[in-house]
Amino acid sequence: MQPRDLSALSPYVPGRGAEEVARDLGMDPDDLTKLSSNENPHGPSPAAVEAIRETAPTVGVYPKASHTDLGEKLAAHWDVAPEQIWVTPGADGALDYLSRAFLEPGDRVLAPDPGFSYYRMSARYHHGEVATYDLSKADDFAQTPATVLDAYDGERIVYLTTPHNPTGAEFSRAAILDLAESVADHTLLVVDEAYGEYTESPSAVDLLDDYDNLAVTRTFSKAYGLAGLRVGYGVVPESWAEAYARVNTPFAASEVGCRAALAALDDDDHLRTTVETARWARAYLRDELDAPTWESGGNFVLAEVGDAAAVADATQRRGVIVRDCSSFGLPGCIRVSCGTRETTPRAAETINDVV
Ligand code: PMP
Repeated sequence: MQPRDLSALSPYVPGRGAEEVARDLGMDPDDLTKLSSNENPHGPSPAAVEAIRETAPTVGVYPKASHTDLGEKLAAHWDVAPEQIWVTPGADGALDYLSRAFLEPGDRVLAPDPGFSYYRMSARYHHGEVATYDLSKADDFAQTPATVLDAYDGERIVYLTTPHNPTGAEFSRAAILDLAESVADHTLLVVDEAYGEYTESPSAVDLLDDYDNLAVTRTFSKAYGLAGLRVGYGVVPESWAEAYARVNTPFAASEVGCRAALAALDDDDHLRTTVETARWARAYLRDELDAPTWESGGNFVLAEVGDAAAVADATQRRGVIVRDCSSFGLPGCIRVSCGTRETTPRAAETINDVV
């Protein structure tokens, strides 16, 4: 027996971990700096690590309260009703829950290209079809509604990423507002703010007071340094309150993950250090890299290096793992995540040496 025809579903290819790269190259993982997955180089808040330790003995039972506690804390944080927070397994989970809640077989979605691959994957898992809009122009830092509306043809879901991965470009609040006004009533705008902590621009969450065709997705994987625990959330209109219980996979967000996220939300100092370092590193990379770079609102910088596969391979051999953006549909570019004040200058020097 075989599964059904899965050829429409492309496998997700994550960036390779330091251990794996070190093994292949016969190196010590400690000699590698991984700047390929936009992780927090400071790791999680110590308070989150403590919460993980404290929660570890409870993992023999199913999660109970933490999920609701986290929803309530996030609701207070965003000044929305608790029913407006959908706690999910990563922001990927939030994208899946939205697909599950909105897509009927054959519905079309509109996703950015280049862009985060999971929009397309989630839509296809839910039997949707994918069209794309073009974000490959370097002068599009301020992404405009026209970028999307030129390609828009009444799709059921339109995905916006701000700051955008992998370019770093942003939609202004006015642009999102314009889009929310311009699309048809049956179109849901998903505003993915996975990198929202790193930008100076305001979140789109407050637009939910006025629009019920909008959802915002966020994550604890990036600025909160909890990528391995898989906790994210959606902030959705109040009128969808009833849908969450129907699309929520049972026990999807773990007790350990939710407890760590709760602790991370209380550690303002850790978040401040994380964001300050990332903004510093972003400016440093743009100043110091010899290759042309794109303006970025995220914790990463895109650099035009020519043969990106060869450059990524060469930097890796010298201990710096960066992302070749061919898989994002941006050949010729590498994406360099912001490191610490120690690793970022070393990374810039290594990249300059090989380009
Ligand atoms: N959105 C964007 C734009 C991302 O880059 C990522 C992770 N790479 C995610 C969502 C998913 O994040 P997670 O599932 O780890 O919360």
